[in-house]
Amino acid sequence: MRFVLEPERKTTVAASCDVLVAGGGIAGIAAAMAAARNGAKVILVEREYTLGGMATLGLVTIYLPLCDGEGKQLIYGIGEELLKLSITHGAEAMYPKAWLESGTPEERRQFRYLAQFNPHLFTLEAEKCLLELGVTLLYGTLVCAVSMQDKTISEVIVENKSGRSAIEVGSVVDCTGDADVFHLAGAKTVLHKNGNGLASWYYYFTGGKVQLKMFGLADVVTEKQPETAKESVRDDTQYNNEVVVSLDRNFRFSGVDGTELSRAVTAAHQIMYKDILEAKAADESYVPVTISTIPLVRMSRRIAGEKTPDVTSDRKYVEDSIGMTGDWRKRGPAFELPYGALWGKDVKNLIAAGRNISVTDEMWDITRVIPPCAVTGEAAGTAAAMCADFALLDVKKLQDKLSAQGVKLHL
Ligand SMILES: Cc1cc2nc3c(=O)[nH]c(=O)nc-3n(C[C@H](O)[C@H](O)[C@H](O)COP(=O)(O)OP(=O)(O)OC[C@H]3O[C@@H](n4cnc5c(N)ncnc54)[C@H](O)[C@@H]3O)c2cc1C
Repeated sequence: MRFVLEPERKTTVAASCDVLVAGGGIAGIAAAMAAARNGAKVILVEREYTLGGMATLGLVTIYLPLCDGEGKQLIYGIGEELLKLSITHGAEAMYPKAWLESGTPEERRQFRYLAQFNPHLFTLEAEKCLLELGVTLLYGTLVCAVSMQDKTISEVIVENKSGRSAIEVGSVVDCTGDADVFHLAGAKTVLHKNGNGLASWYYYFTGGKVQLKMFGLADVVTEKQPETAKESVRDDTQYNNEVVVSLDRNFRFSGVDGTELSRAVTAAHQIMYKDILEAKAADESYVPVTISTIPLVRMSRRIAGEKTPDVTSDRKYVEDSIGMTGDWRKRGPAFELPYGALWGKDVKNLIAAGRNISVTDEMWDITRVIPPCAVTGEAAGTAAAMCADFALLDVKKLQDKLSAQGVKLHL
């Protein structure tokens, strides 16, 4: 291996804030909203030039259920607010009539509280909302290093068109989806062990309608998945008609390697392209409208936090709960999510939200989806506006604030 030694450099401290939110996916949007509403000066740093991450740029446009599948709503607060925001101008499909209008208990058992939204309208609505709250949006900017003193991040180093600069911070919320800030700060993180889910989703127009095509790809397919294409067997087929095919049986995608991500994305593009050409050959009015423009890797790197909840916590009381979630894959389960899953002792003023919180591999498939990402985003953003040492935070005070914001903490 060859190396180059880069010269030491002085980096300008170009800005300062109380709370820096790294990543503007669903978790980042929720965290920035919560921190700003709690009086913090917030800067949100986003690598792309659009908010929403996978939910918008990845065209993952199904806001999965806020309920337990048995008629009980579990997610309130910003988790519910964002669902409503996503369909401000109408749902693309699956409008949750039973929940937003007068649904009977039986209808709420039958139809889960979810909706399909338009990604473009959602991202524009989310941006407007954050601007109105006074959040500074720094697009096209990558968090690439941190400067630390006494286990505390004093500045976050970013790179964009202007080059490299530093932002002085009070606390940091890691919503990068891959625990990038924890990794850069040298905190303990964990990689997903099992086969990964990748994807290649696009919208197409035909017969006067725009529709979503969901291609699922897997690296190492699980025992339940044959090597060839398979229809999903999830029970709620109303929102899952994904076809899963194996991308490369002999290769594990970690989701945090630059070369690998390009390989996954180009493979996904080529599969999508073949499908588009085949569809066009059969129907000349078929037009691709928009393709996903962010890597669609389900699980990658997560934090190793104070607590690591597992599926065995189903319907159990969690004293430091910061909100709840159901299981999007099946009806019945309900989980109280612990505050301890959002932070670790290695860095005092760093907290996580979204896809990269501390959970077991099994639990990851439940907490990585849009609604729980919004729940943990609201909790982390609220906590970040309250303190700069998450081990010392009075959890009861955080819970009182979350309750006042409309979040339900316990079953
Ligand atoms: C194929 C697939 C299908 C899915 N289907 C659904 C579904 O139907 N419904 C559902 O609810 N969920 C679904 N999910 C899961 C869900 O979309 C995501 O897990 C969720 O949106 C993640 O939100 P997040 O904010 O934690 O992370 P992300 O959406 O990954 O957002 C992270 C953001 O951080 C930015 N970022 C990353 N690193 C940096 C950095 N170093 N500096 C600055 N910015 C950075 C990224 O650009 C991105 O905008 C699916 C996921 C996949 C892969």
